[in-house]
Formats: sequence, C-alpha cells, structure tokens
Amino acid sequence: MYYSKLLIPTLREYPGEAEVISHRLMLRAGMIRRLAAGIYNYLPLGYRVIRKIESIIREEMDRAGAQEVFFPMVLPAELWRETGRWDQYGKELLRLKDRNDRDFCLGPTHEEVVTDLIRREVKSYRQLPLNLYQIQTKFRDEIRPRFGLMRGREFIMKDAYSFDTDETGAEKSYRKMYDAYMAIFRRCGLTFKPVEADTGLIGGSFSHEFMVLADTGEEAIVSCDSCGYAANMEKAEGRVAAGFSLRPQDVGTDLQVCPELLPLEKKITPGKKSVEDVAVFIGVEEERLVKTLIIRGGERIVAALIRGDHELHEIKLAKLLGCTEAQLLSPAEVEEVTGAPSGFSGPVGLKGIPIIADLAIKDMVNFIVGGNERDLHLLNVNLFRDFAPDQFADIRKVREGDECSRCDNGNLAIVRGIEVGHTFKLGTKYSETMGATYLDEHGRPHFIIMGCYGIGVGRTMAAAIEQNHDKDGLIWPSSIAPYKVIILPLNMESEKVYGAAEAIYKGLEEKGIEVLFDDRNERAGVKFKDADLIGIPYQVIVGDKGIKRGIVEIKERATRAVKEVEVEKLILTGEL
Ligand code: ATP
Ligand code: MG
Repeated sequence: MYYSKLLIPTLREYPGEAEVISHRLMLRAGMIRRLAAGIYNYLPLGYRVIRKIESIIREEMDRAGAQEVFFPMVLPAELWRETGRWDQYGKELLRLKDRNDRDFCLGPTHEEVVTDLIRREVKSYRQLPLNLYQIQTKFRDEIRPRFGLMRGREFIMKDAYSFDTDETGAEKSYRKMYDAYMAIFRRCGLTFKPVEADTGLIGGSFSHEFMVLADTGEEAIVSCDSCGYAANMEKAEGRVAAGFSLRPQDVGTDLQVCPELLPLEKKITPGKKSVEDVAVFIGVEEERLVKTLIIRGGERIVAALIRGDHELHEIKLAKLLGCTEAQLLSPAEVEEVTGAPSGFSGPVGLKGIPIIADLAIKDMVNFIVGGNERDLHLLNVNLFRDFAPDQFADIRKVREGDECSRCDNGNLAIVRGIEVGHTFKLGTKYSETMGATYLDEHGRPHFIIMGCYGIGVGRTMAAAIEQNHDKDGLIWPSSIAPYKVIILPLNMESEKVYGAAEAIYKGLEEKGIEVLFDDRNERAGVKFKDADLIGIPYQVIVGDKGIKRGIVEIKERATRAVKEVEVEKLILTGEL
C-alpha cells in the first residue's frame, strides 16, 4: 500500500479526550475516530488490526469445531420478555420501536436468539453437541463508556454458544473453548491469565475470565506466586494462618491447641468509634479487634463480623444471602436495630440479628468488640464462650500477602487486568425458561445444557496496545500488526533511493508480505516519527549512503535492533 493514498491521519499531540495509553495511541496513529460517546469509526489501519484479531479467533473457533453464524442486531422484545431480561437488563439495553409501535432492542448478547433457534431446529440427541459462534456488533448503553474501544457502547464481540445433552459433554465443550481461548490470546501476543470467576448458582470451575495483565485494567485479580491459582476479587479466597479451633466439636482433636482464654472485661472508650481510634486508645494492633457491621441484604438484616484490619466484601456477602446487594445500615438504622449508637455494635448480647463471622475470626482468641452501649467496648471476648455466630463464611476481601487457599507455600498478590474474554457454563438456565429440549434415544425429552463464550475484539486490540508500546508509539505483535513492514525512502529527491525503495516494496508485496511504502514527500524525521508511532514491526530504511553500497537497514520496532541487508537479497528472499 502506498502511504500517500492511505487514510491515516496521525496526530502529533495527545488528544485531550483520551485517558489511557491505548486510546491515545489509537487516536494519534489515526486508527479510530469518535462519532459519539462510546461509538467509534474504525479507520483503515485500525480496521486491519480488528480483522487480524478476528481471523485468529475464526481459525481457533473453527479448529475447536464451532460453526460460524450471523444473527441480527435488532432483536424483538418478545424473546427478551420470555426470559424476563426485558425487565431485568435495565438501561444497558437500548430499546426502540418500529413503525408499527412494536418493541425491539439492540442486541447486547444473544442467548435468547440462539436458544430460540435451537429450540426450533434441534429435536434429537443425534443433532448434538453443537457450538455456534458469530463475530458481530453489540450495543450496550454502558453507564460510563470510556477508554476508547476498551469500554464502548457499540463494540465488536465474538460470542459462541454450546449445546450438549449431558454434563460430561457440556464440560468437554467448555474445555474446548477454554483451550481455544488460550490459543487465541497467545497468538495475539498477549500476556494474560485465565482466572476463576464467580459462577453464581452453578458452582464448580466453570467460569473463567481471561485477563490481560495491565496496570490500567479495571479488574483486580488475585494470584498465587506459587501454585498459579488466580481468581477475580469476587471469587478469591485467602487464608489466615490457622492453628487452633474453639469449636466445641473440635475439642480433643489436633486442632485444639488454644491459648488461655482470659476473663471478659468492659472498657470505657469515650467517643472512640473507628477501628483505628479504638486500637490506638487501647494500645493494641487493629488485628486484635473484630468489627461488627450491621448490613441489609435483600429483606434480611445481619451482623457481619470482620477482623479489624480486614475489609468486608459486600458482593461475597450478598451472594451468601442470596441477593444482589448488601449495604451498611445508616447510623440511625443501626441504633434502631441494635439499641446502641453505630460504632459500638458488637456480637455479645446482640438480639434478633443473625451473626455471620468471617473465616478469619475462627482462630481468634481474647479479641475486642463493641459493647452494644455508647462508649463501651469489650476486651478478651471469645467465641462460643461469650457468643456464637450463626455461620462462618468467607466474606472478606483478599489482601496482598494473604496465604493461598489452594497450596501450602504461596502468598497472594493483587494485580490489575483487562477482561478480554469470558467463558461460562450456563447449564439449563435458558433452555428451561425458553423450552429448548431434545429427545434421548428412548424418546424422552431433556433440557439442553448450554455454555456461552465471549471475546471483546476491540478490547483485545486495546489490551494489546496497553502491553506493547513505548514513548514513541505502538509496537504491534507481528500476528496482529496492520502491516508487517514499512519502507522508508529517506531522500525523495534521489531517484536511486526512491527506485530501490519501490523495487523492495514490489518484491515484498509479490511474496505476499503486507507492506506499507512511505512514498510521501516528507522529511526523514517525519517518516521515522510516524513509523514509530504506528508501530509496524519492521522498518526498511533506504538512504543515500547505503544505496551507494547496494545496502538498506532493517530496524526492528520492538528492540530497535538494526541490521544491514543487501537490496538484491531482500528483494529475492523477502527475509527480514
Ligand atoms: P465487563 O465486566 O467488562 O462489563 P461483561 O462481563 O459485561 O464485561 P461479557 O458480557 O462477558 O462482558 O462480554 C464478553 C466480552 O465482551 C468481555 O469479556 C469483553 O471482552 C467484551 N466487552 C463487554 N463489554 C464491553 C464493552 N462495553 N466494550 C468493549 N468490549 C466489551
Ligand atoms: Mg458489562
């Protein structure tokens, strides 16, 4: 391609609208332009990268036995009403009406559409398993579209849906997609980690988020430095050094190596409400305290006990309570429910509210809690002697340095990641609500077991940039680069230079190598700057001095390593 003919409006300055490097560089390199919030035009260079990523996805999906389809983007409301998602989805679903006043939405995902197809077309176990995928534009009216293609409103997604007769088959289908995702992101040149994600009611390791590791990532990932265990924050389990147990059922077992239990004491703590204030006032570490948080989750009110230096994970608690949100009561509500001002709640003598204690509390002795009275705390409180929790559960946020819950010698680190893909075993959620069944060999009907698998194509491109750039611009991994080589004739006045450059261009093109020929009448400095900015993996530099000797330089963008090659040899072999 002749550079002078390509629409590639590079910018010298960082555009103000962009916050993260991938967004800035995509704008500066003339790859995308904003049309409206979260809605972008893909320009030639940007679209080539999108197409490269799509091809890698297609190849790996096809290899895994999935079949490509293409569903509509405008979807009838009836299907969404059948699953209840017309009401549940909220404002992310962009709704519209046709000329006959019928309701439609723009597809944010296609479970309804694909399940509708399958319930009509699949009758017998002989037609299963099946896996259908598409690469298509999705629309989600995100509350905060940002970071360019990373979180758009209109974006390109690969979504796949698997259909199986039984659990074993469904797990096999899941595994195939998991392996395909590993291959796809590896081929895109990304450093990534599949992490266990929350499966809600399904259980088991059947939801993974594929995270590209980058400081700008929106997700926090917990990972073990020893066994490789990785999970998203909502799912991550840490462990606090265990040693003894105070549970009556453990008496006489190896676990019973408990220190001496001291007598309960009252301590006046005037105006000391926060963990920090109480710890300083009493002169102990914050980890000696247990805070009592009065929480509303759905219809229920519970007391959550968390070690002083730990934090409650509201989503873990909400899941435990079977609701979507768990929230602290206001100070006035706390006082009404417990009879004591907020800041002094405690589990001893707390009436009518179930107590859920975090697992880290199981091993504590002689700890400090609120006294359920203004300005009072209790010292040397002990489990089962002074109060009994109704339940122990993992309800805290994992912290950097916690022991790994899966192995004996690892510690957990928290890193940031960008979710580029998601695999999920759906089970029979959609086949039950929409009546997608097959007949087994005895003619008996069963619900089809489903899985769904998504990849954000534009987000993958953005993530690749977050991981591959330097101060001068983009550094494309070869597999997804818009062109493999850019040819830079430095002196446009010299016929020799231009002639050699054009001969190399034609020679490489003939060999099927994707080449960009910078034929612009620009200074060398401008050409170097643009070549570095758009990040083509190899630059062939054609200058006066070299050409006299029949030589050009090849510079590798990533390492900046330069080598000399003979013009004739380069044209002949195409070797870079
Ligand atoms: P997120 O938590 O980031 O909103 P999600 O859980 O809503 O993601 P899925 O419904 O699992 O995402 O969609 C599958 C994939 O589509 C995601 O892994 C991500 O790569 C991509 N994706 C989702 N929302 C967007 C968006 N607004 N812009 C770009 N890509 C997106
Ligand atoms: Mg989302």
